[in-house]
Amino acid sequence: MRKNVFRLLAVLRLVLGVLMLLALTATFLDFTGTVAGWFPWLREVQFMPALLAGSALMLVFLLVATLLVGRVYCSVLCPLGVFQDLVRLVTFGRWRDRRFKARPGGPVLSAIQGWTRLGILLGFAAGGFLGLHFTWLDPYAIYARFVSFCLTPLVKACRHADAIAAWADGAEGSFTRVLEVVVPASGFALAAASVLAFIAALAAWRGRTWCNTVCPVGTMLGALAKFAWFRPHIDASSCVGCRLCERICRAHCIHIDVKAIDHTQCVSCLDCSAVCPKGAITWKR
Ligand code: SF4
Ligand code: SF4
Ligand code: SF4
Repeated sequence: MRKNVFRLLAVLRLVLGVLMLLALTATFLDFTGTVAGWFPWLREVQFMPALLAGSALMLVFLLVATLLVGRVYCSVLCPLGVFQDLVRLVTFGRWRDRRFKARPGGPVLSAIQGWTRLGILLGFAAGGFLGLHFTWLDPYAIYARFVSFCLTPLVKACRHADAIAAWADGAEGSFTRVLEVVVPASGFALAAASVLAFIAALAAWRGRTWCNTVCPVGTMLGALAKFAWFRPHIDASSCVGCRLCERICRAHCIHIDVKAIDHTQCVSCLDCSAVCPKGAITWKR
């Protein structure tokens, strides 16, 4: 019974995340500004833009949400996080992790990841103080750049299908117009697509590796999530050591040998509670 409730919640979490991602993407692609008018809070609720804009209300909202249920920003609101989950879904990552018995990294890998996260966060903060915003590492900016430089030109190309057709017919001057419209910044488009492709490859290979190795926002939220009011715990007396939760955890933060979960890396996806046959993973303080 409880397992089914968690299953439902895990599906709802993903559906909500995908709807957010689609709505946010639509706000970028809609030139009329209509969609942005429907969901003005979608951009405002993004962590780095809120921090840079000094939006106290949004920051307090995100911090309180994290202190309540962990990295909910990473599971529902962050476009890059949901994008990684979608990549994992379509590349059958969950199935592969179960089939090939994925395990969390050992102490050496964990230490490397920890030091990398800390170094990137310190570099990110130092860059901010010096006025150099490392926006290539801001998850919202990474996704926004991909949409702006790669998807927007495609939409524009569709809107100017008449010019493309004219060019195909050999009409004079149309070729230049089509190039101007479709690839106004091909270098930026290539860079934005490469970054996203790299993150997608990591997600297909090993779930939220980008989130738990590189992303400075994830590192900040993870430090708070450790103290979250509701976070997953393993009941050692009910656990039978089947390791199902350990394998399907997209953040690879469950360590069944010691019956522990690294709450700094957990992205509150609920999958572990949904999959546990013994109902041994509960959410509590
Ligand atoms: S860790 Fe960063 S990229 Fe991953 S979901 Fe959280 S904010 Fe987004
Ligand atoms: S799925 Fe449940 S029973 Fe199996 S190892 Fe995880 S907590 Fe233990
Ligand atoms: S421990 Fe892993 S599977 Fe469980 S909620 Fe956190 S990220 Fe998801």
